[in-house]
Amino acid sequence: MLEPIDPKTIRWDELTFAFKPTAFMYVAQCPEPGIWDRGRIEPFGEICILPAAGVLNYGQGIFEGMKAYSSHDNQKIFMFRPEKNAERMADGCRRLCIPPIPKEIFMEGVVETAKKNRDYVPPYRAGAPAQGALYLRPLVVGTAPLLGVNPAASYTFFVFTSPVGPYFKGGVKPIKLMVSQEYHRAAPGGTGAVKVLGNYAGSLLPGKIAKQAGYAETIYLDAKEDKYVEEVGAANFFCVKNNTLLTPELDGCILPGITRRSVIQLAKEHFHIKVEERKVTIEEALTAEEAFASGTAAVVSPIGLIAYKGKDYIIHNQTIGSLTQKLYTMLVNIQHGAEPDIYGWRYEVK
Ligand SMILES: *Cc1c(COP(=O)(O)O)cnc(C)c1O
Repeated sequence: MLEPIDPKTIRWDELTFAFKPTAFMYVAQCPEPGIWDRGRIEPFGEICILPAAGVLNYGQGIFEGMKAYSSHDNQKIFMFRPEKNAERMADGCRRLCIPPIPKEIFMEGVVETAKKNRDYVPPYRAGAPAQGALYLRPLVVGTAPLLGVNPAASYTFFVFTSPVGPYFKGGVKPIKLMVSQEYHRAAPGGTGAVKVLGNYAGSLLPGKIAKQAGYAETIYLDAKEDKYVEEVGAANFFCVKNNTLLTPELDGCILPGITRRSVIQLAKEHFHIKVEERKVTIEEALTAEEAFASGTAAVVSPIGLIAYKGKDYIIHNQTIGSLTQKLYTMLVNIQHGAEPDIYGWRYEVK
């Protein structure tokens, strides 16, 4: 049995993006014929599942990723646009023939899990190079036994958590990426736009190859022409060309990141930068003035180098670009309540 860690023993400044068990999780069930029951908080621990469960055989499962943040005065806990995660998980459920989790159950799950584990929310540390957060992992899986490739007859929804630090080692230091020439993440008509479990299983080998070669992650190109940038591992891609912010359009192969959407809005409405959501060629990316990856885990991570066809391309002299820096600071300050919530993105966990 895995014991929760004692929050008093956590060295907040040494947290990385690694799993640490906390005290509580939320569990809800959807028995046949597909109506979700309200869930409840339980001690975090092992679950009982049959080897014939749908998820274990055919990967019928969807996850989400979100964070609970300490306010900059350490008086409150915020989440960032959690309803958007609820909507995206429901979209993923529809794609995988899972009865969509009602928004109220999703929200109860993430709010109650954050509240019950509030001692694990890393405190805001003024002046720290990167802030920690309590990562929340909603997960829905097909639990009923089956043999043929079919949707499971019953499902379980979990929310578990872990305190986390920066996703990429080195905090906001620019990362080095490698374009995969052998593997793709998503294909037209596939499941690239939803957080299906199997997408991430397929990314392990390309991720391992990149890491063994000394890069932080893989850049994926489109499966059809091998020409356009899709994503950076499990984060969205942005670059700056001629004072315009470019990001791949949501064509079904791109995961519609909530950070991506927020960055686009901040760039347009707050910083008055031109934004284009369109196909971005790998050549444009390699010669960009600035580039970064965005996501809940990655926040805004500057990209300092991209390796493509055996050659390294340096971006912004491997330092963080000024627009990247502005977007990062504004986003983090909104998330932690150090800036006014101009767009109504914060959700206080009371
Ligand atoms: C989760 C995820 C993202 C980022 O989404 P956010 O909502 O910003 O966290 C981007 N790409 C992939 C493939 C992802 O799984």
